[in-house]
Amino acid sequence: MKCPYCGHEETRVLDSRVDSSGFTIRRRRECTKCKGRFTTYERYEFGPIFVIKRDGRREKFDRKKMLNGIMKACEKTSVTLEDMEKAVDTIINKLQKSGNLEVSSVEIGKLVMEQLKELNEVAYVRFASVYKDFREIDQFLEVVKELKNEK
Ligand SMILES: [Zn+2]
Repeated sequence: MKCPYCGHEETRVLDSRVDSSGFTIRRRRECTKCKGRFTTYERYEFGPIFVIKRDGRREKFDRKKMLNGIMKACEKTSVTLEDMEKAVDTIINKLQKSGNLEVSSVEIGKLVMEQLKELNEVAYVRFASVYKDFREIDQFLEVVKELKNEK
């Protein structure tokens, strides 16, 4: 990495330490030519996740929005905020690990449903009813039936 002061190509690392979170490395460097000092950080690089909406629009993935959706579904259930946060993190980790950084909103909905199914049945059915946009009571009953069959 070039020196930011004189552009010299050679710098040496004076000190290198992992920060308290364990996720960042901080390095103090010195230019071998002008002796100028600077700091560099090494962090994980995750690309932003994009959501493709039903109408084809592309939108940057919004963690808060997903959490809000889950919170709504979990209203008046025993699911804790911590569980909800964990569910969101699990989904994000899955997406990042798969390297699939463009996901359809349908896929996102499925991932949320997967998580809610494990957390709470009421929340799951609530979310499903919004996500699947039930027009008829039959469709709704179908989901409830599926849920019972899987038990
Ligand atoms: Zn320099």
